[in-house]
Amino acid sequence: MAETEGDIAKVVEVVRGAPKVELHVHLAGAMPQATLDGLCSKYGVAPRSAAFVDYATFIETWVWMVDELIREADDYRRIAEDALTAMATQSNVVYAEVFCSPGTPVKEGKFSLADALDAILAGAAAARAATGIEAVFVVDLERLTGPEWGMALLDSMAPYVGKGVIGVGLGGPEAACEAEVYAPVFARAREMGLRLTAHCGESQGAPEVAACLDALGIERIGHGVRIMEDPELVVRAAGLGVPFEVCLTSNVATGLVASIQAHPLPAMLAAGLVCTLNSDDPLFFDTTLADEYAAAVTRLGMDYDAAVGLLRAAIATSWAPDAYKAELEAQLDAYLER
Ligand SMILES: [Zn+2]
Repeated sequence: MAETEGDIAKVVEVVRGAPKVELHVHLAGAMPQATLDGLCSKYGVAPRSAAFVDYATFIETWVWMVDELIREADDYRRIAEDALTAMATQSNVVYAEVFCSPGTPVKEGKFSLADALDAILAGAAAARAATGIEAVFVVDLERLTGPEWGMALLDSMAPYVGKGVIGVGLGGPEAACEAEVYAPVFARAREMGLRLTAHCGESQGAPEVAACLDALGIERIGHGVRIMEDPELVVRAAGLGVPFEVCLTSNVATGLVASIQAHPLPAMLAAGLVCTLNSDDPLFFDTTLADEYAAAVTRLGMDYDAAVGLLRAAIATSWAPDAYKAELEAQLDAYLER
């Protein structure tokens, strides 16, 4: 395909407006800055900019946000409504599988997991009514809170399986604990009918990706870009067809790669890995899913077919029912043929 400036601008316009599926976004990391400011004034807390400065500040700001701004379950309702509404209006996200991390505030006794999930689902229903966005949730089992707490969360989650909660993820600092210790928790989650993903191969290398595949049986890989350090594992992952939830801007912000131009996504695709584009934490990384697609075109040189391939991969690798996936495909086809 000829890549004149006009062609590139046209592809950017197409991908920005396209109906999208988001598979790797954190609920609290997706609220607009205005929502964060509103929670600050609700609790009389001095507002802070969430804009990413460095990794340590990012973690500190995340902890501050959970400690100071999520004090009652209703805060999650507001965050969910505003985050999902922003995703729909800014990027035309029509379906999202969204990480939520209520484990820490629940462990601190602020509210029950049921109260948190009820509030999140109420916020999601309000966003759906306003914009049409459909969202289901993947409960983050945080490495820092340990497998026993993860098992306790599964108990509380049972009534929500298939009723707004679709899966579990493993989040938090990869160095905090080895994936293996979560094997019984993930086995139980699978028995409960939950789908499985894990953050790995981001701050830690390829062996952590292998550990999450082998010990946890994950069905999608959160980030996973450092798999490229192990060519044999790349071949294996390509053979398995296990999809990668790739987040370009996030990887640059956290220092994993030097620039979007240097991101290994093109090499991952060339190696036969199934990849999708995602926004991770739009609030912190000053991005949107539409921006991520635009960056893939302008900075990674993806042409129309490659960009549309990423849109289709997100539908195909989502955990939506097949009939709904067919609807999403038809919606995308209708948009592209317009
Ligand atoms: Zn993430």
